[in-house]
Amino acid sequence: MEKKQSLNGVDFIDDAYLDNLAKNTAEDPGKVREIIAKSLSKEPLSVEETAALLAVESPDLLEEIFNAARQLKRDVYGNRIVLFAPLYIGNHCINDCKYCGFRRSLRTAVRRTLSEEDLKREVSALENEGHKRLILVYGEHPDYTPEFIARTTRICYETKVGNGEIRRVNINAAPLSVEGFRIVKEAGIGTFQIFQETYNKKAYALYHPEGTHKGDYMWRLSGMDRAFEGGCDDVGIGALFGLYDWRFEVLGLVTHAVYLKKNFGVGPHTISFPRIQAAHGLNFDLPYQTTDAEFKRLVAILRLAVPYTGLIMTARESAQIRDEVIEFGVSQIDAGTRLEIGSYQEKRGGQQKLEKEQFKIGDERQLDEVIRWLTGRDFVPSFCTSCYRLGRTGEHFMEYAIPGFIQRFCSPNAVLTLCEYLEDYASPETKAAGYQQIERELAKITNPGEKIKLIERLEKIKNGQRDLYF
Ligand code: SAM
Ligand code: SF4
Repeated sequence: MEKKQSLNGVDFIDDAYLDNLAKNTAEDPGKVREIIAKSLSKEPLSVEETAALLAVESPDLLEEIFNAARQLKRDVYGNRIVLFAPLYIGNHCINDCKYCGFRRSLRTAVRRTLSEEDLKREVSALENEGHKRLILVYGEHPDYTPEFIARTTRICYETKVGNGEIRRVNINAAPLSVEGFRIVKEAGIGTFQIFQETYNKKAYALYHPEGTHKGDYMWRLSGMDRAFEGGCDDVGIGALFGLYDWRFEVLGLVTHAVYLKKNFGVGPHTISFPRIQAAHGLNFDLPYQTTDAEFKRLVAILRLAVPYTGLIMTARESAQIRDEVIEFGVSQIDAGTRLEIGSYQEKRGGQQKLEKEQFKIGDERQLDEVIRWLTGRDFVPSFCTSCYRLGRTGEHFMEYAIPGFIQRFCSPNAVLTLCEYLEDYASPETKAAGYQQIERELAKITNPGEKIKLIERLEKIKNGQRDLYF
């Protein structure tokens, strides 16, 4: 078990202040339009400006927020959607989070940790579907040390089948010590995600029993400070919507982003906003259940508040909600998701077995189907990892745009990874839809030299070369 240190961070969350901001529902159209204009000029918003957007209730003004979020996403990020798969490594857990199917008091949960051989088989199965980016997920347990996380990460990178390889491994695990972060960083991890679950201290105490590791709000809140100190400057934050007022959580996330930027020079790389789903043994009322309409608002407002931060919408959401919300600023989604430990290598089909899984997912489509859906919506599914691998990192890189950057690098690189997918893994139907999308992307390129270079590389991929990028 990671030893806790005296360093327990700065409490930058003022609950009473955020509560007040969240409760202020006075809508000021003039001010809201000024804030939208600021966001469209790609400037991050303050917590107070975000609160002013959260106060909007009138349908016309809400529409302006949605339109701005859609536009900002296209301006900063283009029409790419990055795809990844979660890979659960083990569900042993010493914590007792009341909403989770892995909590320790749930005796009927079936527990398992992947062996190294199992892990290789899982990674091979994911590569055979076309995945290039994974997020490894762990319960909190003495077995899941930083060394173990590093080892499992390395196995993912080393396992290669056919043209398949994993080019980026992100992590979602309990917060580590500074030394722990150093150890996982050395294994070449991408983003380290820690969700605060709820930023409200009273609600936090309600769902995370005292005396458990996770019951320590400050140890969790300061997790990202230790990550930076340990050399992990690529971090993802998140809140689990349903534990407390959704407006408060958005303000908590923005406060956290502002804090990281101010203290470490870069904000979070990604923000996640999972909503609580049904889980094994879960039967409590959610007084703050976030409705679909609120969900759509929170995604659009987060987009406007943090223009350069990736937004992740997971398969917890149904295909229908994902279809409705994706255009308002989402940049990453998981696809072909399976939560049962060790199940990627098994045949598809059948119901989820909740006693073996963390929660129920809403979107069970396979990767191939998701890619067809995205291209049908004029998005370019992307497996691109070139920026990280070329060392183009930092606030305005890593999938995000400085002016001209998307056209020169991101869009063509996304197209190249899509082409690899279509050649190696797609069904005939998806292959046809994918190449139509590639034609649309080529038609947009105005610089003849750049267009020729991209066409040349696409030809090379069709002739068997892989991993080409600008
Ligand atoms: N065990 C580590 C921890 O808690 O930090 C790793 C994260 S856990 C395996 C992944 C995330 O799933 C949690 O941070 C939580 O936000 C989310 N989660 C837990 N139970 C959930 C549920 N019933 N519905 C949706 N998301 C849930
Ligand atoms: Fe354990 Fe994480 Fe589930 Fe909490 S959310 S019970 S820490 S796996």
